[in-house]
Amino acid sequence: MRQKLLRLGAFLAALLLCTAVGLLVGRLSNSPLAGLLCSAALGLGAMMLSDTLKGNRLLAWLRTDAEGPAPGDIGVWGEIAHLTEKVLLRREQRIEQEQQRLMRFLAAVEASPIGVMLLDANHQISWCSRVAADHLGLDPKRDIAQPVTNLVRMPAFVEHMSAGPSEQAVSFPGPNGNRLSALVQPYGDGLQLVLTQDITERERAETMRRNFVANVSHEIRTPLTVLAGFVETMSELPLTEAERKRVLALMSAQARRMQDLVADLLTLAQLEGSPRPPADQWVMVAKLLERAKSDALALSAGRHDLHFDGGEDVQLAGSQTELQSALSNLVMNAVHYTPPGGRIDVHWSAADDGWGSLRVNDTGIGIAREHLPRLTERFYRVDGSRSRDTGGTGLGLSIVKHVVQRHGGEIDIQSEPGKGSTFRLLFPPSRVRHVAPALQPDAGVATSS
Ligand code: ADP
Repeated sequence: MRQKLLRLGAFLAALLLCTAVGLLVGRLSNSPLAGLLCSAALGLGAMMLSDTLKGNRLLAWLRTDAEGPAPGDIGVWGEIAHLTEKVLLRREQRIEQEQQRLMRFLAAVEASPIGVMLLDANHQISWCSRVAADHLGLDPKRDIAQPVTNLVRMPAFVEHMSAGPSEQAVSFPGPNGNRLSALVQPYGDGLQLVLTQDITERERAETMRRNFVANVSHEIRTPLTVLAGFVETMSELPLTEAERKRVLALMSAQARRMQDLVADLLTLAQLEGSPRPPADQWVMVAKLLERAKSDALALSAGRHDLHFDGGEDVQLAGSQTELQSALSNLVMNAVHYTPPGGRIDVHWSAADDGWGSLRVNDTGIGIAREHLPRLTERFYRVDGSRSRDTGGTGLGLSIVKHVVQRHGGEIDIQSEPGKGSTFRLLFPPSRVRHVAPALQPDAGVATSS
């Protein structure tokens, strides 16, 4: 408002000045027409001068990339400046919004475990996500504009890139000893999108699955072949009664071996497929020891010196069936791998930090140090024929390990050839509780809390 008044004042002052000069010129020249022309010319000149000055101010503002507020007191030029400023502001806001969308999009790409890399028509890197850079051992900033095959030199990858677009992903060893797969997809005008993935775990699982199937087939084929041989013998040869009985006994042993194998495989499959054992079902440790003891007594048939102790006032949280199977497996192994006359100790103890331990100690044949790390692998046996002679499936310890891990614990194995072995199942404090003898149930092994 103040500026408008000022502008009006300046305009009136200029008008007054032009009129006064025109009157003066009219009087001096004694020609009113000359005076009129003079004031008109002066007024026109003043208007042009003012317009030029205002235009120049607008130009000066535009030349600074429209920095700062638009000049407002320059009449119609001010209007132009104001409109220009609004157009620029709207455009800036749109660009800002687009940039934010792009940032969000890039953040989503970066969050993906799949690496993304963009290549130009010459296979030079135009953009690379952090994950792709980690996979391929690149620097997402430094390596921009570098030909990708100069940096990733694995022959399979280089060959794949030079062969042109393909629907198939290529797999190759990564820089960190991992296995990678890369899928190259063309897009736009000769550009390429490379998607990378770490497939180390997937390949390992696939190899394990293949080995497992091969092992199972092998384990089943052996008794099956023997059985088929006996069937043939019985159908083709005339056998005496005694021979027939012997062959039938051998056949039944092979059938039992297959049954044991299938039972252990089913147990493993169940352990892998079922949810973790409950943390509020409590199992009396004494009952676990009691049942393991009666199994061991039956199997040992008086050939070993057996000792079971501890755990009278302790409960473990979890599955009674699983815990029983784990403990019995260890105890049966101890009987199998301890020569007659040897001693077997099964003992429960709790450490000061609250961890509980079920320990099975024997004075048996022991295990050489190099076998210890692999002992809980499926079908791993130190001595294959000895294990089979004892009716072992090679799956026992892998079941034990699964069970104890499902209960939040771990297995510890110490052994010395010729001296014996100690297997310890360790349970975390959250799964161990002490109960007053009065609270112990007389029958049944599991209680809920
Ligand atoms: P298996 O059915 O063959 O006993 P396990 O998984 O129970 O299978 O055990 C794997 C291998 O560990 C066995 O083949 C045996 O060589 C060894 N082993 C297990 N327990 C003992 C033990 N107490 N003493 C010596 N060796 C053992």
